[in-house]
Formats: sequence, C-alpha cells, structure tokens
Amino acid sequence: MKSTTASSDDDEGEQEQSPNIFLHSLFLLFFTGCYQSTGDTGSMVRQAASVHPTKTKPVAAPHGKKKKTIYLTFDDGPNKGTRHVLQVLTEEQVPAGFFVIGEHVYGSRDQQATWDSLQQNEWVEIYNHSYTHALHNHFEKFYTNDSVVINDFQRCSDSLHLNNKLVRMPGRNSWRMSTVNATDIVKSKAAADSLYNAGFIVVGWDVEWRFNDSMKLKQTSDEMMNEIDSVLLNNQTKTPDHVVLLTHDQLFKDSAEVSSLQKFIRRIKANEEYRIEFVSKYPGAVQ
Ligand SMILES: [Zn+2]
Repeated sequence: MKSTTASSDDDEGEQEQSPNIFLHSLFLLFFTGCYQSTGDTGSMVRQAASVHPTKTKPVAAPHGKKKKTIYLTFDDGPNKGTRHVLQVLTEEQVPAGFFVIGEHVYGSRDQQATWDSLQQNEWVEIYNHSYTHALHNHFEKFYTNDSVVINDFQRCSDSLHLNNKLVRMPGRNSWRMSTVNATDIVKSKAAADSLYNAGFIVVGWDVEWRFNDSMKLKQTSDEMMNEIDSVLLNNQTKTPDHVVLLTHDQLFKDSAEVSSLQKFIRRIKANEEYRIEFVSKYPGAVQ
C-alpha cells in the first residue's frame, strides 16, 4: 500500500485538521490500491465518480460564466520557439505550463538565457519532461526499465530545482493522478505506475496542436479552436469541462505561427465560458 505515496503523503498532512479527510484518504488509498491491482486503465474516473461523486465533480467555476478550463502546455523547451511563446503569454496575460527537457537548458548559452526568462515570467509554470527525453527518443527501450525512467525524471528535477512533481512522459499520453488513471501504450504502463509510486504526478493531454514534416502547425488557429469546442461539448476529455492542450515550443519559431498562437489565445479569451489555467490547478493534480 506504499504505492500511493504522492497523494497519501499529502492526505496524511491534513489528517490532524480533519478526521473526515483522514477517513476519506484511507478509503482512497484502499480504492486506488485495489484498482491498480486489476491492471485496468482509463476508467478510474468513472468508477471513482460512482462511489465518490464529490471527488471527480467538475470544479465549481469561481469566475462567473467561465465554466470550462483550458490548460495550455508547451513541450520540449527551452529552444528557439520558447521566447516567442513567452512574448505572446506576457502580452495576452494568460498562464501556461512548460514541460522542459533537462539537457535542453544546458544546450547553448541562448537556451540557458531562455531558461532564465522562463523562470522569471509570472505567466509560466515549469514542469518536468525528463532529462534526456527518453534517452533521445528511444522510447521503447527507455520505458522497459522503470529505474532508468525514474532516475531520468529525478535528474531533471534535481538539476533544474523544480518546485513541483508534475511530469509528462516523452512520447506517451499517460495520466497518473488521484482523479485520472490512463495509459495509451500498454508497454509503458509499468513505467507510468513507477513514476506515480515514486511521487510524480503524470499529466497527458486531451488535444494536440500538431505539426507536419516541415515543423509547421497542422491546424489553423480556427481549426484548433473548433477542436477544443468539440471535445468539451462532446465530453471527450479526461475530466469534464477541462481540456489539456499539448503543443511544442519549437513550432513557434516564425512569425506566422506566433500570430496563429496569439489569435488562438485571443479567441479563447473572447469566449465567455472559457478560462485558461496552470496545470497545477487541474482537478487531481495536487502534490
Ligand atoms: Zn517531448
């Protein structure tokens, strides 16, 4: 039962204040342990909801009509696109999360300077995308060895002095948090479990702003917006009314792409139902 370190440690901290929370955490501990032993993935939200409706209910909107939350996430930085993304976020005053690669920070003097800018920007939260990006994209090999995986994420965390435990697995859309348990590629399931058991919160994505062979955006900003509208409307996200968008810093090297990003963010801001948040505010993404 030691396997739920991430959430149980936090819950233990709260038990002095409330016996109810302690009992609740005991239940969750038991439930999660039993659930994980079945080896199933992906349906934890639904199962948990039927037993504990308060746990997975969409968070009440504190901002009037803004009932739906969009989380912008940028992977693989710092690199040549990162500064442009930062400029747009700062101009538009919207929060975003950057899943950075440890060794990219040390890749060049320019990337180190970009890293400094990331750390100083109030609209940015920085998360862990491993130190070597799965041994330089050798995904299958990387994910066969749980301790290699944990060490690579821990190395990134230690080296960059990250102040949170949110991680994204390179090349894998897996989720491990108190409210969502999902695995896209079964061969990497054990690695995702190990990360969660080691105290990391694993964050995947609901929609991706993809790129083509020339590293240009595949969807226009309008098409991307329509996708967001559609998955929310049709309840195709991991948590109802919450959508995590994945894209990559390096797609925003040129002005056309930067304009698309700005236009996209302005469309979100213009929608009275939408708000943009840090991934640390996602339901269940608690330390
Ligand atoms: Zn990546």
